[in-house]
Amino acid sequence: MEFQKLAGIGLTALRSNLGPLKKPYKLTFSITYMCQSRCVTCNIWQIKPKDEMSIDEIREFAKKNTYFRWLEITGGEPFLRSDIVDIVKAFSENNRGLYLLTMPTNSLCNPDMVIGKVEQILRLNIPKVVITLSLDGYREMHDKIRGIPGNFDKVMNMYRRIQALKNKYSNLYLFFGYTISKFNQGQFNMCFDGVKKELPEITYNDFHINVGQLSDIYYSNTGGDFVADRAAIANEVKEIIRKRERQFNPVLAVQSSIENAFLKGLVDYVNTGKPPMRSRSLDASLFMDSFGNVYPSIMWGRKVGNIKECNYSLDPIWGSKEAEEIRALIKNGHEPCGWTACEAYQTIAGNVISLL
Ligand code: SF4
Repeated sequence: MEFQKLAGIGLTALRSNLGPLKKPYKLTFSITYMCQSRCVTCNIWQIKPKDEMSIDEIREFAKKNTYFRWLEITGGEPFLRSDIVDIVKAFSENNRGLYLLTMPTNSLCNPDMVIGKVEQILRLNIPKVVITLSLDGYREMHDKIRGIPGNFDKVMNMYRRIQALKNKYSNLYLFFGYTISKFNQGQFNMCFDGVKKELPEITYNDFHINVGQLSDIYYSNTGGDFVADRAAIANEVKEIIRKRERQFNPVLAVQSSIENAFLKGLVDYVNTGKPPMRSRSLDASLFMDSFGNVYPSIMWGRKVGNIKECNYSLDPIWGSKEAEEIRALIKNGHEPCGWTACEAYQTIAGNVISLL
């Protein structure tokens, strides 16, 4: 069963090299905009969300759209939704080909509660569950960027607690998510060395790297600019790539190769301000917010429709004139998007043949 699901996502990603897909295979779904962080790079925490999709509405959506092979749950802070397990269950029960679940956490929720929910999620028969703990610097730096004193120590504690579950669950993968911005530029080595003191087993490949970006619909931060010195940030990412390649782990070979391709694209993006390859937004993937609004990606606030207005089926939105117009803009390079982990992986997978 696991092999079938892996083959399903692999073949679909390969198929996306040959032209548009009939249905998307990746859903990025912000299940809530509630967040208890106070990040300087993101204003989601200032939103007081009302009328977010209920579990019944999400179940209806999952029942009517059964082709997702990769579910990326995001927030806000996903674990602030007390029904997070039911949400994942709705997708795992209805999307038979679901191979991969990815989700971040800011590590600020009660760790006992999080561990209990993570265990329930790990038992849902999803072959690969990837949890990323946000970490933007060593101790004071992380706490300053996140606006929460003591957050760094909570991240370390959460890492240890979730890591311990690996003895029991082979489908669990755990990483740190490190976002470089003008606030922590040049500090990655200090962060890595500090974390290594706490967690001696850690390697560079345990960090997902991103660069702070702007999005009106997602981070609600379009007034800022988080990349002050492009050359310095590009050099920092290049150094991280070199260190990752030196610590190459054959067990994670495929994942590391894609991650390194993402990082090399990130260097290009930081240097030029343009994504390095044609996006697969509104083809392989889509972003849905917690109110049911559908967008091409988390980076582009051009709304395609709302799932509640079409009885929770994506079909009328996917086949709409609006969607076709947006796809034409994307094809001609007019998508005002950056190069984020949420969007880049399916883009890399959909450009593999042209990269060979
Ligand atoms: S970056 Fe994440 S943790 Fe920080 S405010 Fe935004 S949603 Fe919350």
